Amino acid sequence: MLIAPRFGDGHRILVSGGAGFVPSHVVDALIGRGCAVVAVDNFVTGADENVAHLAGNPLFTLIKHDLSDGLPAHHPALAGRFDAIMHMASPASPTDFAALPIEILRVGSLGTFHLLDRAVSDQARFLLASTSEAYGDPLVHPQPETYWGNVNPVGVRSVYDEAKRFAEATTMAYHRARGLDTAIVRIFNTYGPRMKPDDGRAIPTFISQALRDQPLTVHGTGAQTRAICYVEDLVRGILLLLDSTEPGPVNCGTEHELSMRELAEKIVALAGSRSEVSFTERGADDPEMRRPDLTLARTRLGYQPTIDPDDGLRRTIEHFRGQLA
Ligand code: NAD
Repeated sequence: MLIAPRFGDGHRILVSGGAGFVPSHVVDALIGRGCAVVAVDNFVTGADENVAHLAGNPLFTLIKHDLSDGLPAHHPALAGRFDAIMHMASPASPTDFAALPIEILRVGSLGTFHLLDRAVSDQARFLLASTSEAYGDPLVHPQPETYWGNVNPVGVRSVYDEAKRFAEATTMAYHRARGLDTAIVRIFNTYGPRMKPDDGRAIPTFISQALRDQPLTVHGTGAQTRAICYVEDLVRGILLLLDSTEPGPVNCGTEHELSMRELAEKIVALAGSRSEVSFTERGADDPEMRRPDLTLARTRLGYQPTIDPDDGLRRTIEHFRGQLA
């Protein structure tokens, strides 16, 4: 299966959340192909450093703006048609669920409507960055796209899970009712350079603690599992989906499933740290296990993750070592 790039030299692509961790890597890959990229970001969780290397690049424009209020009227970079619109803006870490609940719901609902309407008027391909959290605390393992999920609709995580489920439903409604060319990618736990050391997600937290020789704080018994994906593999999968005509949803990630305790011990070993592993209280509704069924991504997109977790974690540890030095 070989998917020819649909988007490259001369194409214009809008990326919401473009100064964030995953989206900034997507922006780099698009610019590497010769696409002109306009990133819209309000920096609620993003960082200037993620796109600082693109300053002065004629293919890149950054607009600081809250997408939940709509796209800014009359901005010169927003004049003219976009060939694709990638909606990737949303706070995404468990600490954000508590700190930014309304902001998450607004960008997942209002932000999604604003970009879908623009995609209809531009006749652009629209790609939504959704999440494995759409499956909630899954009762089926691994999770295929046909599984409808097990989400607590009023729990602390619901602001994120339900915002993404709403965004998926809205995207599919525009696909069916307006004939929009849409794609939905369900992203599983992704890590790599440009994550914030203090963003509350397990991998950056463990790495920061290991590099400081502090105890690694594993939630609960640490038996809960996640399948972890290095950002380079994820970006390749997202671009394969963008280039295809698949409406999705399509899972993207890896099958490298490990318990949080194993992950913590692995990070201590790879970092050459003296840290010990400690156990703290576990958040409500934290999924017990999570691993994507990648059959659809493999058969429809020819997707195959290639980066071994030890290799990806080593690269991420070195990046954090540089940052924390
Ligand atoms: P991130 O927080 O680093 O990136 C999100 C970006 O969106 C940030 O730059 C933030 O400032 C921006 N943003 C948020 N609200 C906005 C608004 N109202 N207007 C404009 N910009 C706004 O997080 P990330 O991990 O890179 O996640 C990127 C996307 O991928 C998110 O949609 C997230 O839900 C999805 N995702 C990520 C993962 C993962 O493991 N990293 C897993 C599943 C889904």
